[in-house]
Amino acid sequence: MKPKIAVFDFASCEGCELQIVNLEEGLLDLLGEVEVVSFREAMKEHSDNYDIAFVEGSCTRESDEARLKGIRKCAKIVVALGACATIGGINCLKNFQPMYKVKEIVYGDDAHRIETYPARPINAVIEVDHTIHGCPIHRDEFLSVTKALLLGKKPDIPNYPVCVECKLKGNQCVFEKGMFCLGPVTRAGCGAICPSHGHECEGCRGYVDNPNRDSEMEVLEKYGLTVEDALKRLGMFLGYWEAPRYEQ
Ligand code: SF4
Ligand code: SF4
Ligand code: SF4
Repeated sequence: MKPKIAVFDFASCEGCELQIVNLEEGLLDLLGEVEVVSFREAMKEHSDNYDIAFVEGSCTRESDEARLKGIRKCAKIVVALGACATIGGINCLKNFQPMYKVKEIVYGDDAHRIETYPARPINAVIEVDHTIHGCPIHRDEFLSVTKALLLGKKPDIPNYPVCVECKLKGNQCVFEKGMFCLGPVTRAGCGAICPSHGHECEGCRGYVDNPNRDSEMEVLEKYGLTVEDALKRLGMFLGYWEAPRYEQ
């Protein structure tokens, strides 16, 4: 019997799910190895009988928690899919303001009808077994993680900074071009795609374990930048850690 997989979404743009749908020939290979029993973006059938749950999106309201815990209960393995689920991602931009203000800005007079709380990654609510980082995820990484899980192996997720991949590619550091980059503290695995195309790394793969903040600060100092400059950039994807904790 093939292992059963399911894909779920919470607050997200569904771009990571789209990466799965767009696997092209990889999708046919995958479908030869697994049975997909639930995937709202791609099919209408649903079953609560699955082995591996891939969860996209952040938890953004208390009522999300029961559904998420239900998924945890059904699945043997839970994989957080993409920055919204792994680190909170861009949903956490709202965490930089108190929730009453966020609701007022978006919903005006109807603000009182809306249920919301500071956005959070799914591991803030349930235990997560594995993560596939990125905004969006990379299709090859999705396939390699899934393959490892099907073989009963631990997926190999890099735990060193983007700078390592960037330097191996021989890129000119974007700091030298007067730009800003979170490569020194961000988890590698994307092949330093942004700096390789002349852009800064904005941290979509989250912090590497034990990020070397001293090294980021040294780089900032070297290029005449301040901690405030850094904090502005950290807010794009890393607001779950960096936003103030307001009384709600
Ligand atoms: S991680 Fe990015 S691409 Fe994926 S669902 Fe969230 S916002 Fe969309
Ligand atoms: S700081 Fe950014 S551009 Fe510079 S080496 Fe690191 S990843 Fe590359
Ligand atoms: S370089 Fe940074 S922002 Fe760009 S994909 Fe990699 S981790 Fe994400």
